Amino acid sequence: MNRVCITGGAGFIGSHLCQRFLDEGHELLVFDNFVTGRQENISRFRSHDRFSFHKEDITESITVAGDLDWVIHLASLASPAFYQENPIETLQVGAIGTQKTLELALEKDATYLFASTSEVYGDPDVNPQPEDYRGRVDPFGPRACYDESKRYGESLVWSFKEQYGLDVRIARIFNTYGPRMRIDDGRVLPTFVRQALTGEDLTVYGDGKQTRSFCFISDLVEGLRRLLASDLQTPVNVGNPDERTILELAEMLLEMTDSESSLVYEPLPPHDPRKRCPDISKVRSELNWEPTVELEDGLERMIDHFKSVINSPVSDPPT
Ligand code: NAD
Ligand code: UDP
Repeated sequence: MNRVCITGGAGFIGSHLCQRFLDEGHELLVFDNFVTGRQENISRFRSHDRFSFHKEDITESITVAGDLDWVIHLASLASPAFYQENPIETLQVGAIGTQKTLELALEKDATYLFASTSEVYGDPDVNPQPEDYRGRVDPFGPRACYDESKRYGESLVWSFKEQYGLDVRIARIFNTYGPRMRIDDGRVLPTFVRQALTGEDLTVYGDGKQTRSFCFISDLVEGLRRLLASDLQTPVNVGNPDERTILELAEMLLEMTDSESSLVYEPLPPHDPRKRCPDISKVRSELNWEPTVELEDGLERMIDHFKSVINSPVSDPPT
């Protein structure tokens, strides 16, 4: 059994990782301030004797009594809709939050996993993106607070490895989807699924020809778990290379939900990456991992989950 600290554990990816670690028999200490996470995501674990929850803003403090084996740093604003409304908070959690969690890992001699992102590649002129592609990021644009916070975060993680010998892992996570995303998350799949199920028009930004590649949550969790178990210290892409246009997704969802919604075209947000697709050669060869869930199957599961949320909405109890 390992003792694991997870920041951002009440969020989408965090709650699925919690489930995996509890199933494996580990003890979890979860830190979250609920800025985007929800009680509902962790209420199922709360009575578990190997689970403890700490409502903290990790840019202010994160202290743990006793030993730790792993520190998993997921806390961040993650949806463009949320991080663009809170750019300073986003930069702070990537900079100060990452520093504080690295110091915690160092103090406890724990292995540290950083949730980085495909956004470190920005609006890429190489497709698919391998790990040695340096990216095309504007430090001044509307996405800069997120992209630069993660680029700085990676750099800080690597510096703790170089200067103090900390055992680190850096996952460059590509677009991931599945149950427990917020219905008001703002990212494209929860938005389109909600719109299709409630009869609202699907809001396609630009001409919809920009691409993304979507990984189902169970595949991502398996990839992160293998990374943690490995000794791979350099950044690695974790994502599904099944690249689709946004228009294709919208049409697919209309058909899958038998929706009578239409498509409405809205302006493309500035600096929106035109293409995104992971080169997964490294994760395949180093971790023997590749995604297994087809997009259509993952979307079916997400649609079922969103139907149940829409039919019986649960409001979070006060924290
Ligand atoms: P999410 O918003 O569901 O979860 C993030 C969690 O972090 C939330 O529970 C939020 O309340 C918490 N948090 C934010 N700031 C905090 C702070 N200062 N103190 C304590 N808790 C704080 O997002 P997610 O999709 O689960 O993303 C998890 C991580 O994975 C993030 O670091 C994100 O950047 C990264 N990532 C996600 C994706 C994706 O497609 N889901 C892609 C690339 C990278
Ligand atoms: N998008 C869209 N309609 C929406 C939300 C997003 O067309 O209602 C597009 C967005 O412009 C981008 C893609 O879908 O090209 C993915 O956006 P998302 O916010 O999910 O995340 P990103 O990959 O851009 O960080």
